[in-house]
Amino acid sequence: MAAVPLQGQQHCGYGLTAHRVSALASQGVRPNNGGMSAGSASKSHRVVIVGGGFGGLHAARSLKRAPVRVTLIDRRNFHLFQPLLYQVATGALSPADITSPLRGILRRQSNAFVMLGEVSGFNVSKREVLVETQRVEYETLIVAAGLHNNYFGNEGWEKHAPGLKTIEDATDIRRRILGAFERAERESDPVLIRELLTFVVIGGGPTGVELAGAVAEVAKHTLRHDFRAIDPRSARIELIEGANRILPLYPEDLSVRAQRSLENLGIQVRTGWMVSDIQRAAVTIRRGEETETIATHTVLWAAGIRASPLGQALAEQTGAELDAAGRILVRPDLTLPGHPEIVVIGDLAHCQDKQGQPLPGIAPVAMQQGQYAAKLVKARLRNRAHPPFRYRYRGQMATIGRAAAVADLGRLRFGGYFAWLLWLFVHLLALVEFENRLLVFVQWTWNYITRNRSARLITGDMSTRSLPFVSGKRNE
Ligand SMILES: Cc1cc2nc3c(=O)[nH]c(=O)nc-3n(C[C@H](O)[C@H](O)[C@H](O)COP(=O)(O)OP(=O)(O)OC[C@H]3O[C@@H](n4cnc5c(N)ncnc54)[C@H](O)[C@@H]3O)c2cc1C
Repeated sequence: MAAVPLQGQQHCGYGLTAHRVSALASQGVRPNNGGMSAGSASKSHRVVIVGGGFGGLHAARSLKRAPVRVTLIDRRNFHLFQPLLYQVATGALSPADITSPLRGILRRQSNAFVMLGEVSGFNVSKREVLVETQRVEYETLIVAAGLHNNYFGNEGWEKHAPGLKTIEDATDIRRRILGAFERAERESDPVLIRELLTFVVIGGGPTGVELAGAVAEVAKHTLRHDFRAIDPRSARIELIEGANRILPLYPEDLSVRAQRSLENLGIQVRTGWMVSDIQRAAVTIRRGEETETIATHTVLWAAGIRASPLGQALAEQTGAELDAAGRILVRPDLTLPGHPEIVVIGDLAHCQDKQGQPLPGIAPVAMQQGQYAAKLVKARLRNRAHPPFRYRYRGQMATIGRAAAVADLGRLRFGGYFAWLLWLFVHLLALVEFENRLLVFVQWTWNYITRNRSARLITGDMSTRSLPFVSGKRNE
C-alpha cells in the first residue's frame, strides 16, 4: 500500500516513517490540527472500538475474519479481568495474573490495530473519535468504556475509602490493608490498635461480599502466625449495606446463605445502614434516627458506580438519553437513536430485557454485546437485517471465601462448596489468555493447600504521611 502523507505529522513528535504513516493513515488516524483524510488509503470499512475491556475486546476478536479494519483504543495497554481484582487487593494474586497486554491478545489478528490513548470525546458529525492530539475516523463506532466509582456527590470520601475498579485501586487497597496490620504491630495503645485492626467494607453487592470475605481470610488465616505483638485474628471486619439484605440482586435465600457464610468468618454484617460520612479515621453510619461512628483506618468502597464520562459526551452530541447512573439508553440493536453507526455496549449501555428491566453490569452481558456488535457490523456489510440483541442468561455467582460461594443459575440455586468449585471453574475459563489461566490455577492450588497469599506486597507510598497513624500520633 502506498504511503499516505499526514499533514502536520511533526506535531505528533514521532518523526513517522512512510511505513508508520501508511499504517496510521489506513486506520484513519490523523492529527487534531488538520491533516488529510485517510479515507482513500483503503476502501475497507473502519470500525473504531473505544475500550479494551470485556465488551470492546470481544467485539474486536469477533471481527477477526470480517472485511474491516479495526482500531481498538484504550488508555491502558492491557485487558483487565475485573472479577478477580479483589484477589489482587488481598494479596492472593499478582496484577500480571489477571491482566493481558492488548497487543499480545490481538497479535495474530491482522485487521486489528491497537492504539494506546485517552479518548476525550467525539465529533459525531465528522465521524471522528478524539484521542489526545489526534482524531480517528470511523464508519462504525463501538463504545465500551465501562464505569467509574460513584461517591454520590461526596467526592471527598474517595481519598479515605478507595473503590475497586483498576489495578492501581487494587494495589492501593492491598497497601492499606497490609499497612494497617504493620502499623498496629508497632503501636502500644490498645485503642489505636483496635482502630487499626478494624476494617469497614461499604456495599453488600458481590464486590463488597467478596472483599469482606477475603479480608477476613487474610486476618484469620494468612497472617495468623506472621506478627508477634498483635493477633491478626482479633481484627474486626464490618460489611455495611443500605438495603435490607446483602446481594440485593440475588434471590433472597442466597442472600441469607451468603450472610451466614460471612458471619461464620467472623464478619459483622449490617443491613439497612447508610453511610453518612467518611473521615480519615472514622466512618459514620445511619439507620433511621440512629447514628453510629466506627473508628477505623481502612474503609473500602464497593457501594456505587457511575458510567464513564464518554456516555455524557456521546449523549450531548447525539441527543441520546442517560439514566440516573449516566449509562446511555440504547435501541434494541444497541445503536443510538438516529445514529445507526454508533453502537454502545457493556456497562456503559442501558439496555433493557424483555421485562423492561435494565441488564446488569456484568461481564457476560458485555461479552455477548461485543459479539453481537460484531455480527451487526458484518450483517450490515452484507446489507442484511439483524435481529435485536437478546441476552442469554448464564447465571450469577459470588464467592464468600475459601470453599464458600452462592450460585444462581436460574432454576438451579445453590451455595457452599460446589458453588465455589463452579465459581473457580467459570472464572478460570473466562480469563482471556491461556497463560493467565495457568498462572491463576497454580496460584489458587498453592493458596488452597497452604492458605498462603504470596502477593502480600506493600507497594507505593509507605511514607509516614501515607497512612493515618504513626507512633500513636495522628498525621494531619
Ligand atoms: C471489582 C469488580 C468485580 C466484578 N466482578 C464481576 C463478577 O464476578 N462477574 C461478572 O460477571 N462481572 C463482574 N464485574 C463486572 C464486569 O467486570 C463488568 O461488567 C465488565 O468489565 C464490563 O465490561 P465493559 O467492556 O463494559 O467495561 P470494562 O471492562 O470496564 O472496560 C472498559 C475499558 O475502557 C477503557 N476506557 C475507559 N475510558 C476510556 C477512555 N476515556 N479512553 C480510553 N479507554 C478508556 C478502560 O481502560 C477499560 O479497558 C466486576 C467489576 C468489578 C469492578
